[in-house]
Formats: sequence, C-alpha cells, structure tokens
Amino acid sequence: GMTIFADQVNKTYQSGEVTVKALRNASLEIPDNKIVTILGPSGSGKSTLLNVIGGIDRYDSGSIKVGETVLEDLKERKLTDYRRKYVGFIFQQYNLIPTLTVEENVEVGLELSQQPLEMKDILQKVDMWDKKAKFPYQLSGGEQQRVAIARALIKNPEILLCDEPTGALDEETGKNILKLLKFVNEQYGTTVLIITHNQGIGEMAHYVIRMKSGEIVESYENEERLDPE
Ligand code: ADP
Ligand code: ADP
Repeated sequence: GMTIFADQVNKTYQSGEVTVKALRNASLEIPDNKIVTILGPSGSGKSTLLNVIGGIDRYDSGSIKVGETVLEDLKERKLTDYRRKYVGFIFQQYNLIPTLTVEENVEVGLELSQQPLEMKDILQKVDMWDKKAKFPYQLSGGEQQRVAIARALIKNPEILLCDEPTGALDEETGKNILKLLKFVNEQYGTTVLIITHNQGIGEMAHYVIRMKSGEIVESYENEERLDPE
C-alpha cells in the first residue's frame, strides 16, 4: 500500500451560475496499509475526495501526496499513468462492459500494470472462476461487484478507492463484499478507502474520516474495530 497525505485541498465546481465548494481546506494523513471509511451526508464531498486522490479529478489548490508522488506536479499523461499503475476504483454501479465476459472484463483492469496478479488466482479469490465465461447480465449484483473488484485488483494496486461499493446490494451480500475488501487489505497490504453506509464497516475500518460541507471535520482511529481472531 501507500501513504496518503493531503494538505489544505480545495476544489470548486462551477455549474452555470452556481459555484459549489466541494472540498474546503481538506487535510488528512493516512498511514500505509490501512482501511479507512469516509462518512458524511450526501453532497459533503466524499466522492470528490476519492476522485482527487485517485487522479480522476484535479483540485484548485493545496497538495496531495500518494507514496512519493505529488499529484499537482503531474502533467495530464503522468497523472493517467499514476492512476493506471497504482489506483483501483470500485463503484456502486459496477461499471462492467456488457459485451465482455467476466474474464475479459477483468483483463480491462490490467492497463499499465507491471506486476499483475494471475487471472486464475484473482478470479478464484473472488469466487468467480467457474463463471469466467459468463456475461454481466447473467450474474447477480453481488457477483458483478466481485468481478469489478477483481478488475480493480488484478493490477495489484497500491490504493483501492471504493465509492459506495455495497450501495446496490442487500445486507448479506454487502457484508461479504466488505469482508473481501478486508481480505485484500490483509493479504496484499493495499490501502483501502471506502465510502459506505454499511454498518459492517465499523468492525473493520482502522480509521474514520467524517466530512461535512466539503470539510474534513473529524479524522480518528476506530476504537470499535474488532481485532481478527
Ligand atoms: P453520491 O451522493 O453517491 O456521492 P451523487 O449522486 O452526488 O453521488 O453524484 C454522482 C456522480 O455525479 C459523482 O461522480 C459526482 O461527481 C457527479 N455529480 C454530483 N453532483 C453533480 C452536479 N451538480 N453536476 C454534475 N455532476 C455531479
Ligand atoms: P458526496 O460524495 O459526499 O455525496 P460529492 O463529492 O459527490 O459529495 O459532491 C460534493 C458537492 O459537489 C455536491 O454539492 C455536488 O453536487 C457537487 N459536485 C460534485 N461533482 C460535481 C460536478 N461534476 N459538477 C458540479 N458539481 C459537482
């Protein structure tokens, strides 16, 4: 995994006449190897925070450093390289390509990877090896999300950014997805940031970040974390 450091990050969206401050002087420090949950009401800047850390979006001012990479120093192509090499994304709506099989969808995740994991290993890990030739429409929601996780993981990313990964799943299936993310953190040392309302997160997150109106209002170690038996 990699450490994540943000210092006084600001990000404004302009839509027509309206200016929205999505991030206001957001600062944080996340050590290597941790699972972090980001909490806060809708519109508080959670997705924006993930997007700037992941190199999907630019910010207006402040600094973000992931491992040794200072993101505002990177030109467009280098930022894309950074994202492809080091960052895995998981979304609420899976974003699988409907015309590709499970295996082909996971292949999409390889991008610029230098040390990819084995296709078979990763598909077995998410319990989708037997369904590798299926298409997304033939799968349940939980299965589709496991494919999306495999696609994010096959490049062996340093950080995994998850935006409501269980939002479209029932309770039980959602818990299993969280368990899988915990396994990834433990097995590969991946730094995992998760936006979620799923209660199960309380048991596994090392750190909690709380946002309100674009500000990081709290950032603390999770006392309720259950130590693995
Ligand atoms: P959530 O509340 O789950 O974070 P939203 O529905 O607010 O999700 O946003 C979904 C996506 O749409 C995000 O990627 C966000 O960046 C984008 N988005 C949110 N608000 C706006 C807006 N006012 N104009 C354009 N895009 C937006
Ligand atoms: P959250 O993830 O906490 O719901 P977001 O980061 O999606 O919050 O959004 C923060 C604020 O920025 C919201 O007011 C949202 O409407 C706005 N916003 C997000 N993305 C866009 C966008 N692409 N264009 C315009 N406004 C946006």
